[in-house]
Amino acid sequence: MLSMLENCKLCPRNCNVDRLNNKQLGFCKSKFELNIARVSLHSWEEPCISGTRGSGTVFFSNCNLNCVFCQNHEISQDGIGKEVSIERLSEIFIEEQQRGAHNINLVTPTHFVPQIIEAIKLSRNMGLNIPIVYNSNGYENQETIQALNGYIDVYLPDLKYMNDKYAQKYSKVSSYFEFASKAIDEMVKQAPKPIFNKEGLLLSGVIIRHLMLPGLLFDSKKIVEYIYNKYGDNVYISLMNQYTPLFNATEYPEINKPLNPKHYDSLVNHCIDIGIKNAFIQEEGTVKESFVPHFDLRGV
Ligand code: SF4
Repeated sequence: MLSMLENCKLCPRNCNVDRLNNKQLGFCKSKFELNIARVSLHSWEEPCISGTRGSGTVFFSNCNLNCVFCQNHEISQDGIGKEVSIERLSEIFIEEQQRGAHNINLVTPTHFVPQIIEAIKLSRNMGLNIPIVYNSNGYENQETIQALNGYIDVYLPDLKYMNDKYAQKYSKVSSYFEFASKAIDEMVKQAPKPIFNKEGLLLSGVIIRHLMLPGLLFDSKKIVEYIYNKYGDNVYISLMNQYTPLFNATEYPEINKPLNPKHYDSLVNHCIDIGIKNAFIQEEGTVKESFVPHFDLRGV
C-alpha cells in the first residue's frame, strides 16, 4: 500500500512525485511522514458522529485544495503540525478509544491514505474496535477510495460545488464535481445504507456535507437535487451554514461577508420541497468560533 506514494497520484492533482523516499513535494506539500496538528474529542460534528462523549478527531495538516475561505488555513496551507510515524498514529487511535471517543474521525486525510491504512491495521491488532470516519473535502481519485474498502466505516465527504467556475475561483481546482461525484459513488458502494446503533450513533454509512457560500444558492440547490436524485434516502445530507469570511476571502468581495440566513432557509425549504428526509441542518446563530479548533498539537 505504501508503494502508492512512490509516484503519488493519491488525489486528482496526480503530481506523480516520489513521496515514499521524500524526493519531491507535490501540490499538497506532504512528505512521507504523517503531519498532524491536533488530536481531541470533538463535539461539533453531526449528532450521530459526536454523540455524548465526542468524536475522536485527528486533524491532518496540509491539503490538496486551496480554498480561499479555509477556516483551518493554519494547518491546511501553512502546514502547522507535528511529523509522526505510522506507529505513533496507531497509538493515537488507541488513545482516542481509551478516552471514550465514539469513533476515530480522520479530518482531511486524503494525502495520507496509505499511511493511515497501515496505522489502522496496526491499531486493530492492538484492539481498536470503534468505527473509522473518513472526513474529506471530496476531491479524491476513485482508486484511492477503493483502496480504503474494508478500513472505513463512515464516509463524511464534502460536495462543495457543482459549477466548475466556482471550484476554480474559490478552491483553485478544476473538475471538482467530476472527481468528487465519482469518489462519492465509490463511498456509497462501500457503505450503501446508513446503520445506527441503539444510541443513534452512525456505525456505517455516508453523510455528504455541503457548506453554503454567500451568493451560491443556485449552485447549492443543484447539489442537493443531484444527491437526492442519485442516492435518495440511502445517504444523509448535512447542510452547513457556518461559513465565516476568513483567510483570503477578503480578496473576494462577493464572499467577504456572512451567509444570508434567508438563503440558507431557502435551501432548507428546497430540500423539504423535493422530498429529502435524511438531512442535518444547523441553527441560525451557532457560535462560529466553536467550529475552529486551536491547532496546538494537543494529543499528537
Ligand atoms: S496527495 Fe499531494 S502529492 Fe499526491 S497527488 Fe495529491 S496533491 Fe499531489
